[in-house]
Amino acid sequence: MIYLNNKLVPRDKALISVFDHGFLYGDGIYETLRAYDGVAFKFDEHIERLFRSAGMIGLKIPMSPADIKKAVDKTIRSNKLKEAFIRINISRGTGPIGLDPRLCPEPTFVIICNPFKDYPEQYYEKGVKVVIVNVRRNLKSALNPMIKSLNFLNNVLANIEGMKEDAHEAIMLNYKGYIAEGTTSNIFFIKNKTLFTPELEVGILDGITRRIILNLADEAGMKLSEGRFIPDDVYDADEVFISSTTREIMPVTTIDDIKIGSKTGRITKALLAAYRKKVDEYIMAHK
Ligand code: PMP
Repeated sequence: MIYLNNKLVPRDKALISVFDHGFLYGDGIYETLRAYDGVAFKFDEHIERLFRSAGMIGLKIPMSPADIKKAVDKTIRSNKLKEAFIRINISRGTGPIGLDPRLCPEPTFVIICNPFKDYPEQYYEKGVKVVIVNVRRNLKSALNPMIKSLNFLNNVLANIEGMKEDAHEAIMLNYKGYIAEGTTSNIFFIKNKTLFTPELEVGILDGITRRIILNLADEAGMKLSEGRFIPDDVYDADEVFISSTTREIMPVTTIDDIKIGSKTGRITKALLAAYRKKVDEYIMAHK
């Protein structure tokens, strides 16, 4: 079942108009959440980011956070899911062709809950290959990557380039050549026990997993450095990993055909274990 504008409808009946401005212009926002044992992890953080994205495009979300919570829970339950991929998708709505947001009186509000498909265990054990692609991350002053927008062509183009190289993820640089982020992930690297990640000012999504990782590393007494980094900084890192709600923490062992690190990804593994512990605690507390 799909939640569409206040109602649960069967998948094949969950249809929207060709005049939806999400379809016509990519005008809208979304969030991806992951549910463990029927509980959406870090729900409040995702909803806060959803409202922030909405504010940045001048879109009024027609529901309160509490109503969205009820709708998400209802959608998870109606699909009888425990481990779920959840997408909350809000577009400007349906209206005549034209860029004026006032043409659309009501946003289109959708919740999709699918069974969660685990990434192969091997990705966590052996690590994945990523490449730094030529497609640059959107300029902050053009389309700010902080907005989790439906306008995803920047990421799609980067992904197409990455796929040609058989990479699990494509990493984009910003317009100045600083490492930004993956198409659907943030990137971290470790050198001499310090954890490095691009600062938000580079023009990236304020990843929820990214924030959790920075806290975990801080709690563990690691040195943290959010800053501006170039590919050469990463090539000789001891460890590299990417993070996202669905992947959690995924080790990277090859970047642009360079093998990463002489060590075994020990810190990445420890962070992943600490992350999974946080997930367990959250799920216990919110059941
Ligand atoms: N960057 C981009 C461009 C993304 O699409 C995602 C996935 N939402 C991330 C980073 C990771 O963010 P999060 O940890 O909140 O899933």
